[in-house]
Amino acid sequence: MTRTVKAGTLSIGGGNPISVQSMTNTDTADFDATLRQVGALFDAGCDLVRLAVRDTADIAVCKKLVKASRGPLSADIQFDYRLAVAAADAGFSKVRFNPGNVGGEAGVREIAAACKANGTAVRVGVNSGSIERDMLDKYGYSDRALAESALKGARLLEKAGFTDTVLSAKASSVKLTVDTYRYLRGVCDYPLHLGVTESGAYASGLLKSAVGLGALLLDGIGDTLRVSLSGDPVREIGAGRAILRAAGVDTAYCEVISCPTCARCRFDLNALAEEIERRTAHIKRPLKVAVMGCAVNGPGEAKHADLGVCGGGEGQAVLFVRGEVVKRIDPKDAARELMALIETYDERM
Ligand code: SF4
Repeated sequence: MTRTVKAGTLSIGGGNPISVQSMTNTDTADFDATLRQVGALFDAGCDLVRLAVRDTADIAVCKKLVKASRGPLSADIQFDYRLAVAAADAGFSKVRFNPGNVGGEAGVREIAAACKANGTAVRVGVNSGSIERDMLDKYGYSDRALAESALKGARLLEKAGFTDTVLSAKASSVKLTVDTYRYLRGVCDYPLHLGVTESGAYASGLLKSAVGLGALLLDGIGDTLRVSLSGDPVREIGAGRAILRAAGVDTAYCEVISCPTCARCRFDLNALAEEIERRTAHIKRPLKVAVMGCAVNGPGEAKHADLGVCGGGEGQAVLFVRGEVVKRIDPKDAARELMALIETYDERM
């Protein structure tokens, strides 16, 4: 079990639900645009939003953003420890920095003092492009070098009496990312922020993140995550939630399973499955609904589902509950009939 780190109202690690994060891509100094995007991210289910804080002008705007935001904000700092200190003083819930580029031990000591005074959490964030020189010399370009760079930062904070630290050590290589986090999990109890960095545009980025984060989540590794995708960050939230669901970490939703269809399927199964998925998106408890093309793999195959529909030849289909047929219907009424069954079933639970 990892230790718990509090970032404002959000608890990270220690068995708390795995949180989903993202980062704004507006100009931070543009208060209205940034606040709008922060709001859109929280609307989409984001748990913590990170902002790039580049200079003192950003800090001035961030003081207002922190007050106006309805959820916890994290400041992303590069190169200047004084900005991290100012971000903690400005009321950010968390500060993310790379100890290797904020002035070494002296800078880290200043950040630790400011974060301690303000109750601000820290993320030590190291990427494969910013591995510490001494770690590269010692271990070469490797998972060990990446992990030890992050640990080195955590130890500097410990030396300054600060332990409210979350670690990340991301690479654009899925394998390097997975190996690094597995190593970290074995040697420390700091909460781990998962991510595959610079993963790419939507489709390829989603795939790389799903493989990398999925492998770690299935190992029980990870306390918070960000799916890095180029473009609108709001899409990162749906992607993060979908990965948590696919990995079986989040089960409080209606899962719609459907067969791939073949010549035996005599109705538009894909349209039906998509409609049911859309119309059950509000359900926040475990429910499994099967949409199957025919009796070959119908109620039998899907009997581990709570309920479902199965095609039964031209103009015929059946509804079933836990593998038992409960009604014969016309496939053209399938969406209405299945939704009525789901609503009745949902009310009984
Ligand atoms: S359930 Fe039936 S329709 Fe669907 S893929 Fe299997 S055999 Fe084909």
